[in-house]
Amino acid sequence: MRLKDKVAFITGGARGIGLGFAEAFAAEGAKVVIADINIDRATEAASGIGSAAKAVKLDVTNVADIDRVVKAVDEEFGGIDILVNNAAIFDMGPINGITEDSYQRVMDVNLKGPLFVMRAVSNVMIDRKRGGKIINMASQAGRRGEALVTLYCASKAAIISATQSAALALVKHGINVNAIAPGVVDGEHWDVVDAKFAEWEGLKPGEKKAQVAKSVPIGRFATPDDIKGLALFLASSDSDYILAQTYNVDGGNWMS
Ligand code: NAD
Repeated sequence: MRLKDKVAFITGGARGIGLGFAEAFAAEGAKVVIADINIDRATEAASGIGSAAKAVKLDVTNVADIDRVVKAVDEEFGGIDILVNNAAIFDMGPINGITEDSYQRVMDVNLKGPLFVMRAVSNVMIDRKRGGKIINMASQAGRRGEALVTLYCASKAAIISATQSAALALVKHGINVNAIAPGVVDGEHWDVVDAKFAEWEGLKPGEKKAQVAKSVPIGRFATPDDIKGLALFLASSDSDYILAQTYNVDGGNWMS
């Protein structure tokens, strides 16, 4: 029970990696708030976890919404000890194909959202004077550009930088800020990616996914279960001396 009685606020926790974190944190004794734009799915996820979880509707692109929801959660639960800034959207396209609309859409969810969620949650952590843990979801895509993934890569590189700045500012309040950079994690968005490649490169359905899996030194996609151990470590007191880091969990992908 490494997170006994801690309150964890997880954005985008209704499915995928965020849901894996919610389940793992609850199993270690935390109360978990799943804050997601898809409230039906978040409610389903929370009820699958049980009484330790609660779903709240949150659109991370709306700063007033963030401030209202974070305040309400802080009051109801008597504080927030752990934030996982997990909500994000994937986007594909080369630099010569980006538009102002796609820029705005991706940056609003993947950069503005996490920054303002960090602002709101760190302020309630500071007020409660008991420190806290913030985990930002970066990506291998934030470390290395991809020809066909311009905006997503840029947004995740910005998250790595924001993690460092926030960590240096918040350490004096006992708040540790770190980030996780997964490689390729199986989930619903990969079906969309696979379909795009089928269209662009004339590949058969499933072919791109198989190629990607083969290119990872460990030979397969990650599952949310592969990522949760690091999140638990960064959320627990075991990581009290660690800040401003971004850790790869990528099956060796970075080296290939
Ligand atoms: P996912 O697409 O499966 O789930 C994202 C969740 O965020 C969904 O529940 C969705 O409803 C929610 N969401 C989307 N827009 C939102 C908004 N405006 N406000 C609130 N919630 C919103 O994502 P995933 O694949 O599990 O990835 C989780 C995190 O890990 C993301 O930050 C992603 O960039 C990162 N990541 C994923 C991979 C991968 O291969 N899956 C790799 C590296 C990094």
